[in-house]
Amino acid sequence: MARYTGSVCKLCRREGQKLFLKGQKCYTEKCPVERRAYPPGQHGPAQARRRKQSDYALQLREKQKVKRMYGLQEVQFRNLFRKAAQRGGVTGENLLVGLEKRLDNVVFRLGFASSRNQARQLVRHRHVEVNGHLVDVPSYQVRAGDDIAIRTTSRELDLVESSLTARTRPKLTEWLTLDEKNRVARVVRVPTRDDISMEIQEQLIVELYSK
Ligand code: SF4
Repeated sequence: MARYTGSVCKLCRREGQKLFLKGQKCYTEKCPVERRAYPPGQHGPAQARRRKQSDYALQLREKQKVKRMYGLQEVQFRNLFRKAAQRGGVTGENLLVGLEKRLDNVVFRLGFASSRNQARQLVRHRHVEVNGHLVDVPSYQVRAGDDIAIRTTSRELDLVESSLTARTRPKLTEWLTLDEKNRVARVVRVPTRDDISMEIQEQLIVELYSK
């Protein structure tokens, strides 16, 4: 599957907001979104001056923003959307909950990694266990009652230590509990839309994919 290998800061600039894709560095380095508040590329400044965006452009940008926040490829994102639509209830909410329940996102939310990208690496490199078993699939969907832990031999990893002790570490979300010393956590309940505080208009994504 094709992987984006360019500058992640360009992705933030394209969406016109900080997506915090570089973890702690986003707080310590000068952020390009603040220095150059227009999309990247030759026509970026002209695009920024253009006032009105079409409905399609708004929907597309919202989808791209969320996809980039969670670090997914288009195919993965579309598959998750398809599953969300098949489930009962509100499709947009199902989609966001599905994204939150991904194992890489949970590792990030717990503070074991300072970005979802780092969290994905931790999972892929076999540092994470679910209910006592190694799981190296970042898209694994956690369930209520799951125990998530950093593998015993990986507990002293610098990456985990520096993420847990970072001043910029976000507050732990209510649907997770964490025993920081032992690097063990539990999924207390399934997250809901109210647990997701990021500004996301999921209805725009539903409209885009429903065309
Ligand atoms: Fe985005 Fe962080 Fe780069 Fe700023 S420093 S543009 S928030 S990845």
